[in-house]
Amino acid sequence: MKNHYQQTRFLLGTPDLRSAPADTGAEIAFAGRSNAGKSSALNVITSQRSLARISKAPGRTREINFFSVKDNLRLVDLPGYGYAKVSKSMQKQWQQHIARYLETRQSLVGVFLLMDIRHPLKEFDQLVLRWCCAAGLQTHVLLTKADKLKRGAAKAALLQVRRQLQVLHPGSSLQLFSALTRDGTDAAREKLDDWLGITAEDLTDSAVE
Ligand code: GDP
Repeated sequence: MKNHYQQTRFLLGTPDLRSAPADTGAEIAFAGRSNAGKSSALNVITSQRSLARISKAPGRTREINFFSVKDNLRLVDLPGYGYAKVSKSMQKQWQQHIARYLETRQSLVGVFLLMDIRHPLKEFDQLVLRWCCAAGLQTHVLLTKADKLKRGAAKAALLQVRRQLQVLHPGSSLQLFSALTRDGTDAAREKLDDWLGITAEDLTDSAVE
């Protein structure tokens, strides 16, 4: 399967939305608790070794980081939530920025919510699902680090989370993902392609460019 995300590059980071890129085109946000595997997933999906390292640089971790896939199509790395070294009041502030972003961003077409398959649907995850539901945003869940469980256990976890999602955010979708084995990468890219409206024709265009 063709990967449309190889040319993805860092655009800018901003703590609130003041210096965000123009709110036009389409973008997909990646949300998750710290350590959920968000950076690893972004790197694997874009086939870049250190794209998301930028988001981890000191000072950038609390920013909303924008990446350009191609003209007016973006991936957005939201601040990871739950990092122990950050004060409660700081976390509260990030929460507000994330909530505001999800509620107001016109070009946002959907949210990828990443959760460690062994610790799904923690408080923050449920909060994000509620915000997405309220904002009418489609949501796709990646159950990350699927390699940490045996196949049967991973499948059972998937079914369990699927049941809970049907209550928390009906209509949302989910899949297993592993940055280590790369399982689920094609499925994740297909979902991104679908939401961003990237088709085989776009592929021909970029091949010609
Ligand atoms: P982030 O804080 O959400 O950006 O998480 P990272 O991508 O930095 O990953 C957190 C930790 O989990 C790191 O030690 C990664 O090596 C590890 N990790 C991430 N994805 C996977 C995975 O698919 N499988 C395994 N086994 N470990 C992973």
